[in-house]
Amino acid sequence: MSTKKENREAVLSEEREYHSQSSGIFFKLKRLLHRDRSDYQKIEVIENEYFGRILLLDGLVQTSERDEFFYHEMLVHPAFVSHPSPQNILVIGGGDGGALKEILRWPIKHSCLVEIDQQVIDVCQEYFPWLLPSLEDDRTELVIADGSEFIAKTDKKFDVVFIDSSDPAGPSACLHERDFYEKLKRCLNPEGIAVSQAGSPFYHLDSIKKKDAFLKKLFKNVCFYTSPVPTYPGGSWCFVFLSDEVQPLKIKRNPPRGLKYFNLDIHQAAFSLPNFLKNLGSHV
Ligand code: SAM
Repeated sequence: MSTKKENREAVLSEEREYHSQSSGIFFKLKRLLHRDRSDYQKIEVIENEYFGRILLLDGLVQTSERDEFFYHEMLVHPAFVSHPSPQNILVIGGGDGGALKEILRWPIKHSCLVEIDQQVIDVCQEYFPWLLPSLEDDRTELVIADGSEFIAKTDKKFDVVFIDSSDPAGPSACLHERDFYEKLKRCLNPEGIAVSQAGSPFYHLDSIKKKDAFLKKLFKNVCFYTSPVPTYPGGSWCFVFLSDEVQPLKIKRNPPRGLKYFNLDIHQAAFSLPNFLKNLGSHV
C-alpha cells in the first residue's frame, strides 16, 4: 500500500489529462519547463522522457515533439494534394506553429496565422524549434486576434483555411459553431477548402454529429477523415474537409518529400470511415 505522501509526490511528478471522468493519460515529468496563466488559458510545457517537450493548454495536450507529425501532416497535406494550386492560406489558432511548418513546405505565396494568445507564440518560440523559422519565413504573417472576429471583418479571400483550434471550451468555443463556419465560407475562393480538427471519434462523437449536421447545410462536400495521434484522447483523431467544388479523393498533386506520416495511400485510407462515423446524420 502506498502512503499519502507517496501518492502526493506521484501526482506532483505527473501531468494527468482526464479523457472521461474515470480515465485518461498521464505523463511523468522529467522537467517542468514552463507554467503560467495568460489572459486566455493556463500554458504549460513539460518534458517527458518518451514524448519530449509537450505543450498543454488548460491541462489538455496540444502537441508533443515526438508525435506532432501525425496531427500536423494530416491537418495540412490532404487539402494541399486535393487543391489545384493553393497560394493564399489562413490558419486560425495553431500558435504552436506545427501547421505552419507543414504549410511552408509548399510553394505558396502567403500564409496568415491568426492566434488569439501572444503568450502561446512566445512560449512555443522558446521551446518548440520549428516555430521561429516558420514565423521568420517571408511568406508568413502573424496576426494576434480572435479568429472568429478576424473572419467576420476580413475582406481577403483564401484558397485553404485550417482551423487548428483547441477543443470547444474557453476562447476556442466560438470556432466550433455554425455562425463561425458561415462567415468562414465567405472568405473562401471558389475552389476553396477549409479543414478543421474535429475531435476524438470515440470521446467526442456528439460534437462530431452536431458539426456534421450544420456543416452539411453550408458545404457540398463535408468529408470526415481520421488519423492516429498517440497523445490525443483515444489515440485516433477526426478532421473534416469542407469544400463546394473540391473533392478530396480527386488527387491533383504529389506531397512534398521528407514527410514522416502522410503519403497518397494514407490519404486514400484516411477518408475510409468505420461504420459509426459513416452516415452520421442517421444517428442524430
Ligand atoms: N492541435 C491542437 C489540438 O487539437 O489540441 C490545437 C493546437 S493550437 C496550440 C490551438 C490554439 O488555438 C491555441 O494556441 C489557442 O490559443 C488558439 N485559439 C483558441 N481560441 C482561439 C480563437 N478564438 N482565435 C484564435 N486562436 C484561438
